[in-house]
This record gives sequence, C-alpha cells and structure tokens, in this order.
Amino acid sequence: MSVETIFSKIIRHEIAADILYQDKLVTAFRDISPCAPTHVLIVPNVLIPTLNDISSRHESILGHMILIAAKIAKDEGVSADGYRLVINCNKNAGQEIYHLHVHLLGGLLLRPI
Ligand code: 5GP
Repeated sequence: MSVETIFSKIIRHEIAADILYQDKLVTAFRDISPCAPTHVLIVPNVLIPTLNDISSRHESILGHMILIAAKIAKDEGVSADGYRLVINCNKNAGQEIYHLHVHLLGGLLLRPI
C-alpha cells in the first residue's frame, strides 16, 4: 500500500508551500531547500511512489508533468539559457520523498541534487 507523504498535504493545501501551478492532474511548487536558483517540483496529484510504479494508465499524467515543467521553465525565464529535469528513483538515486516528482533546475547548481 502507498503511504502518503508531505507532498499530498501540499497538494491539498493543508500545509504551506510556494505553489506556482495547479490543475486537476499536477501541482508544482518551489523546493524548500533549492539546489539551483530555480528549483521547482512538479508532482502528480495522485500518489505514485516512484518511477517503478508507473504504468500505461499514467501516460497522460507523465506527459502533462513534462509539459508543465517546460511551461514553468519559460515562466521562470530559464528556458532560453537552459535547465534540467531530474527524477530520482529509490535510494541509490537519493530519493527522499516517495511521491513521484520531477525536479526542474534552472541556473547553475548550488549543490549536487
Ligand atoms: P528527492 O530527493 O525525493 O528527489 O527530492 C525531494 C525534494 O523535496 C528535496 O529536494 C527536498 O528539498 C524537497 N522537500 C522535502 N520536503 C519538502 C517540503 O515540505 N516542502 C517543499 N517545498 N519541498 C520539500
């Protein structure tokens, strides 16, 4: 069974976060401990713990996460100079929060992600 994380509470506005975007599929908010000048997390509203838990039924959500990441990169003014998208999966990748998320990192990294 999937266990809710703090991200579910952010999605439901039960705890504070700097939310930049939300629709029926995804929520995007600034990382509380940024690794780059622009560091935004794009999160599916449904709880998917890791990339290992995706299936074909998640295809539209996953595509939407990337589209929204690109939109936020443009809105944040980092799209022309460049940015990276990162998904950590499980402990060897350093995943801390077991609710799937894309890191949007714009500008030079302040520390390793
Ligand atoms: P992971 O290592 O799981 O890929 O990344 C989790 C990210 O979530 C980290 O960059 C961490 O700083 C961020 N994070 C953890 N707790 C919170 C929180 O309560 N609020 C926000 N906005 N970000 C968080």
